[in-house]
Amino acid sequence: MGTLAGKTALVTGASRGIGREVARRLAREGALVAIHYGGNEEAAKETVDLIERQGGRAFSLGAELGVPGDVETLYARFEAGLAGLGQGPEFDILVNNAAVSGSARISEVTPELFDRLFAINTRALFFLVQRGLKCLCDGGRVINISSAATRIAYPESIVYSMTKGALNTFTLALAKELGGRGITVNAVSPGFVETDMNASKRASPEAAAELAAWSVFGRLGQPADIADIVAFLASDASRWITGQCIDASGGSRF
Ligand code: NAP
Repeated sequence: MGTLAGKTALVTGASRGIGREVARRLAREGALVAIHYGGNEEAAKETVDLIERQGGRAFSLGAELGVPGDVETLYARFEAGLAGLGQGPEFDILVNNAAVSGSARISEVTPELFDRLFAINTRALFFLVQRGLKCLCDGGRVINISSAATRIAYPESIVYSMTKGALNTFTLALAKELGGRGITVNAVSPGFVETDMNASKRASPEAAAELAAWSVFGRLGQPADIADIVAFLASDASRWITGQCIDASGGSRF
């Protein structure tokens, strides 16, 4: 029996990268996992396949975030998926992982880029949680994937960093709001993790080495490094931790 046997989790952006690994890890602990994706249905199906091959349970649902009606579409598909498995709309763990990055210094930022990043990374996430709270069980978990760019100055992606700063503030306030229901709310802040998100930043071996050097361990993070921390926060073992932003950057730029 895993630590999450009998639990249901929704992981946004679980078709690739960190979200995929989080979904696999939660499924390995026994949770039924809803694999949300934006447009990449193939990759989401592959995540489901990987989970089923390791003996876990998962289903996928697509919903582009940051567009009108996004949250309603997501929950309609999530709840239809649960109903298909004979379950009601209640769930236990919400991992807010889907996000987009945007490399732009202040002089390069356009209003369009600013609005897009906040629409996906902050606004959609906020209303996704607001709606999710109707069905999230007491004693549940909200885990927000933030970024070490909220602690380490990163003017190369200034708006992206700001969207994650808002997420940290949200985490703190929401933890207090939901304490009475026994729901914990925490953020996890990765440094550079080897995913599609930063593939262009490590195009050459030199550039990759430069990113790896941010960590005291001298390597890039791997999605599993983050997934293990999320699995801990999702479990009962983390019940006395709430309102925290947990650095998951391998000691980057202390
Ligand atoms: P990734 O490999 O680029 O994957 C992004 C995921 O989010 C995909 O599943 C994608 O779905 C989904 N997504 C993106 N935009 C979406 C939209 N508009 N609507 C719905 N879904 C959308 O990203 P990652 O590196 O794993 O990042 C995961 C989380 O970690 C993000 O919150 C990111 O900010 C954070 N983070 C990452 C790093 C890093 O170095 N990688 C560092 C710090 C923080 P599709 O596959 O359908 O496109």
